[in-house]
Amino acid sequence: MGKYNWTIDDLKAKFKLLEELISHEKDAQRIELIDSDLNFLLNIFEEYDSKDTIQQPKYIDLYREYKTKYEGIKFLWSDFQRFNSLANSNGLKVFDLKKSRLSSDDLLSLTHDFYKSLDKFFFENFLKTFKDRQTHIRFQTYADGFHCGETISISALKESFIDIQRVFDLQDLFATVHEYSHATSVQINDLHLQLNKELYVEIDPLFMEIIFADYYYQQSNDKDAYTYRINNYLEYLVYSNMISLLLSLMNFDRQQEIKTVKGLRNGIQKSKFNYLPLEESFEYLKYPCERYITCYMIAIELYNIYKQDKDKALYLLRKIIYMSNLSSKQYYNNIKRLGINPNQSISDFQKELQSNMKRIRKR
Ligand SMILES: [Zn+2]
Repeated sequence: MGKYNWTIDDLKAKFKLLEELISHEKDAQRIELIDSDLNFLLNIFEEYDSKDTIQQPKYIDLYREYKTKYEGIKFLWSDFQRFNSLANSNGLKVFDLKKSRLSSDDLLSLTHDFYKSLDKFFFENFLKTFKDRQTHIRFQTYADGFHCGETISISALKESFIDIQRVFDLQDLFATVHEYSHATSVQINDLHLQLNKELYVEIDPLFMEIIFADYYYQQSNDKDAYTYRINNYLEYLVYSNMISLLLSLMNFDRQQEIKTVKGLRNGIQKSKFNYLPLEESFEYLKYPCERYITCYMIAIELYNIYKQDKDKALYLLRKIIYMSNLSSKQYYNNIKRLGINPNQSISDFQKELQSNMKRIRKR
């Protein structure tokens, strides 16, 4: 067997195993968990089968989808708007990352050392998934239209299959750290990926990415750690702007929807972060922007706590990962009850990014 590989057949074997398990299972909560894994895998198989023939969704359909989705998360609207008004790109610029020669083994060992530097709890849970890496992670060369990384987790088995699409710069390392965070969280709480928590599943990986930039810069003196962090931030500003546009166009009725899509196009043209071509900005409609911005807002606050008290931040993150069986809104309220208030530290974070930027400019 080749090193670091898995295929769709491995997932199909897990599917069979789950079917076997569910036929003997008596516990109702376990049955529900296995059932959701089975459905999740079925979707993955469908995606794989249709990868070549995938139809581009129409923008109007995307807009309708978004509209329904945003109606369901009204409790986040004011924080989205605040993030959008506070976040700015002052003094920040996108830079290309330089090519990197990190091998798959390098990516894994750097990721390992980073998780080791966190704390015993996170490291032990990380190791539970990392030990299977020979058959549970694969590295491929990035193909257009793909994600940079994906983790397919089977919660009932506490197993994750990680796919890294390599672009051969520092993004590969950040993607590996990110995906291992997903896989680690499933070890901590097998209910972490349940449906109502979907909005929050990027908190841990985004937080890990932010602290990894400092960690890696200290280890390697590689300024690309901060270039990546800043590029990422600027990308999230586009997401945020996109959300704000969508929210301003929410009140249209069905007949006005075509107009709305036109409005979106115009809005993007006037966007305050419009350094992307129009078509490319419009592509953001396909992304779950609301999930990334929600998690990013929380990750920024956790980072601010982390800088003052590492243990406290990791403890709070652990609490968030342990939360389960709540509604989307309850999750949000419970996170705030931990003392994590979105948009409090955004200006501190921006100051930090600006000082990172100064380092990058001194190339
Ligand atoms: Zn992710």
